[in-house]
Amino acid sequence: LENINFKYRNSKQLTLQDVSFSINKGELVSILGKSGSGKSTILRIIAGLEVPNRGALVIGDRTMVSDTHFIQPEKRGVGLVFQDYALFPHLTVADNIKFGLRKMSRKDKLLRLEEVLHLVGLSGFEKRYPFELSGGQQQRVALARTLAPNPSLIMFDEPFSNLDADLQIQIREDLRAIIKKANITSIFVTHDQSDAAALADRIIVMEEGKLIKIGTPRDILSTHPKSVNI
Ligand code: ATP
Ligand code: MG
Repeated sequence: LENINFKYRNSKQLTLQDVSFSINKGELVSILGKSGSGKSTILRIIAGLEVPNRGALVIGDRTMVSDTHFIQPEKRGVGLVFQDYALFPHLTVADNIKFGLRKMSRKDKLLRLEEVLHLVGLSGFEKRYPFELSGGQQQRVALARTLAPNPSLIMFDEPFSNLDADLQIQIREDLRAIIKKANITSIFVTHDQSDAAALADRIIVMEEGKLIKIGTPRDILSTHPKSVNI
């Protein structure tokens, strides 16, 4: 992101002010900040659901947004996992995952389905419905569905907030292992410092629409624990 400014139509002040950062390929970055600091808005801009008023967005060698460019969301190769997982309740695990693979041949779809289920540790669960799974398993199905089309970037918006504390710790470890194994670049939004510290290679700290810090968990949390007031 280069100098992104953004204002929601009905809002008086800028929601994002001059936000710039870059993420390396394969890196897992957390965005940490209080409620209302602009974390979800950054994800929406990267996904193409909002258009910035100024600034540029480049993913790999493609300019997605600039003064003269706007690439449509479905052409960005970006996956977004929401807080409530948003699985289709009336579809099986297999059909939930295949939903994002409409353009593939039947055979390739089945191969990819087996591949991503194996990756998230749910081989053999194809025929189950979401209500027949635990919260953590549903979360992994949502992850498998997002990974299936092979996005170049995957983003998570507070994915653990519906889970109990023990499960949160288990899932965040699973999630990091799965993402690192798939070698996929990812952004992980949270307002929980311990999630950010446990998961991220680097942390971005947002405050009132501004990026106030970026660094390793060590830089951000252990050297100045008091300075990050979440
Ligand atoms: P949370 O931790 O509560 O999810 P956040 O950091 O994700 O917060 P955003 O959702 O990005 O915050 O919101 C940033 C600011 O933009 C807030 O002040 C919010 O009220 C405002 N906002 C969010 N969505 C809209 C919208 N659709 N229209 C107008 N203002 C909005
Ligand atoms: Mg949010």
